Amino acid sequence: MIIEKIETFVLTDKLSDSFFFSQWEYSERCICVVKVTASNGQHGWGEGYGPATVLESGIKLLEPVVVGENPLENEVVWNKMYRKTLDFARRGVLMASVSAIDIAIWDLKGKILNQPVSTLLGGAHRTKIKPYATGLYFMGHDNPSRNFKKEAELYVSQGFKAIKMKVGLGVKEDIKNVKMVREIIGDDIELMVDSNHAYTLREATQLARAIEKYDIGWFEEPLSPEFYDQYNELRQKTTIPIAGGECEYLRFGFQQLIKNKSVDIIQPDICASGGLTEAKRIGAIASTNGVDLIPHTWGTSIGIHVAMHFISNIESIPGRMYQPDFLMEYDQTENGLREKLTYPAIKMEDGYIEVPNRPGLGIDVDEDVLHEYAIKSTIDSNYEMQKILK
Ligand SMILES: [Mg+2]
Repeated sequence: MIIEKIETFVLTDKLSDSFFFSQWEYSERCICVVKVTASNGQHGWGEGYGPATVLESGIKLLEPVVVGENPLENEVVWNKMYRKTLDFARRGVLMASVSAIDIAIWDLKGKILNQPVSTLLGGAHRTKIKPYATGLYFMGHDNPSRNFKKEAELYVSQGFKAIKMKVGLGVKEDIKNVKMVREIIGDDIELMVDSNHAYTLREATQLARAIEKYDIGWFEEPLSPEFYDQYNELRQKTTIPIAGGECEYLRFGFQQLIKNKSVDIIQPDICASGGLTEAKRIGAIASTNGVDLIPHTWGTSIGIHVAMHFISNIESIPGRMYQPDFLMEYDQTENGLREKLTYPAIKMEDGYIEVPNRPGLGIDVDEDVLHEYAIKSTIDSNYEMQKILK
């Protein structure tokens, strides 16, 4: 059996209200998903995290090294893609293209072998995962946190046991917002903050120290991802655990974060940092060094299922009779690609999500919905044109 076909789809969902965080504003969601089909007719789905049309170009570049390969040998295919991109893309979007194909191959492999991805990874240490709500983004520039109260109350009423809010408006404003959200959600719900690398070391230290009293689960991307040493310095100055890594790639990038003792928690995005094949290796480095791993997710329901299977397979170190809950990022901002693209739908009950035990990622894509969101990109037509001219 061989991989016969790779198809890409750039999906766009225009938002009814735009929202922003410390770096930029979103008025639409635009994501590249990939379908890999084997010679026996079975297929798998993957997605990449990053600029969708650039990602799509990367997948086109990789297509010739993937087609004809055995879909059961994901490490062999991964290495061929890695060697094809190494000279140009040790970090960045081409690695997200590799990730998208790798994920689709894992889904396909699971469907061929009739086993869930968690089993292929080595087995599920847990069948339930605790999602944390990612939300509390800024809306409207005159009073960016105007929806915080309503939104925080909604997450509590939906049963979330953990919530992550945005900071990065300025230290004073952030302190006020964190205090407000903690008061709304009470003491029993975990609260994390994420500045998306908005601050200098001095500002991040000031903010961290001021919000320590609000029992913060972690401070995510306080500083620019390039400042490995400053992350380490910040860790010495606050009791709040420091998290980061959503802009990091491959085991080599995470090795650098861990070697510099930059973070307490690494957050690889599996759809960008090298796919499931590489995530397993990143997980091995994390557990070797006693660093927690909670993947970053942002995208369609395909990416969320990838995280679910991966998290179910993370070893608890140190082990103990009563294991802690394992968290999963669960974006709650407006996104039709998360809600409608795949079936069956994700269900949260009593604040937990059950890891699917169906083959592959445990989902399929509704192709009618897919085509509704798909745009025929210029890259696609250029590519078709190149094929014709050959
Ligand atoms: Mg983040």
